Amino acid sequence: MRIDLHTHSTASDGTQSPAEVMEAAVEAGLTTVALTDHDTTAGWGPARRRAEELGLDFVPGMEVSCSSSSGISVHLLCYLQDPLAPGLMEEIGRSRAARMDRARRMVERIAEDYPIDWEAVLSQVRADATVGRPHIADALVAAGVCGDRSEAFATILRPSTGYYIPHYAPDPADAVRLVREAGGVPVFAHPLASARGRVVSEDVFDEMVEAGLAGLEVRHRDNPPEAQAWLMDYAARHELIVTGSSDYHGAGKPNRLGENTTSPEALEAIRAQARPAG
Ligand code: AMP
Ligand code: FE
Ligand code: FE
Ligand code: ZN
Repeated sequence: MRIDLHTHSTASDGTQSPAEVMEAAVEAGLTTVALTDHDTTAGWGPARRRAEELGLDFVPGMEVSCSSSSGISVHLLCYLQDPLAPGLMEEIGRSRAARMDRARRMVERIAEDYPIDWEAVLSQVRADATVGRPHIADALVAAGVCGDRSEAFATILRPSTGYYIPHYAPDPADAVRLVREAGGVPVFAHPLASARGRVVSEDVFDEMVEAGLAGLEVRHRDNPPEAQAWLMDYAARHELIVTGSSDYHGAGKPNRLGENTTSPEALEAIRAQARPAG
């Protein structure tokens, strides 16, 4: 079995439709794939249908944007939750609205120095998708300002440049509780991705564990090797599930499907903890 539990589609900031991500998963030799778009489950229906046609094992998921009390961004993966659970739905609704407002304000700042506007950004976003900096990056690429998303993130979209604006997102421990209330299984995404920005300290891990965290995404290209060793030790001490995944965004990032994988035992443990709605 080859299991990848972290991918994005055009329902958020991936570049392929949910059905296309399923097709790419089969081409990459995966047997199981999760779709984990940022703050939305809109891709589940088309992904599930295509996966069924392809004989691919599909795990519905989501990546919840969170912000710690010190303003550090935390991403929480969750699997198999009830997509209609009111508490979680309300929080991701708040985040999505805040993301939209924040993107608009960032574009106003950027437009003072570069030839893009809000229309140009919106033309990069599929109706209904969760809007993020990657879509602003796409508009900068389309305008010829940057060569690709990575360049945009390394320059104009970097927090230190002055164009960056943070957005509302729930506290990580609260998000863990909401995922559990929705019957889902919460896994801390790329917990020590230091190249992306500041990472949280051990007390935030402890608060998330206290709230019901199920696992850590240890094998992810953004967790440096020393950090992965620390995460393995932390997971062992707290009896957490360990996962590995690609964080595939299609052409939007260099991450390739299956570049990291999750063991069948870990997936089984995730499925065993899920409480189906109904
Ligand atoms: P936001 O949540 O809107 O602040 O944007 C963060 C998103 O941008 C994350 O979900 C990443 O997938 C994406 N991202 C971060 N760094 C890069 C990069 N260097 N290249 C492409 N996408 C990136
Ligand atoms: Fe993303
Ligand atoms: Fe993430
Ligand atoms: Zn992701």
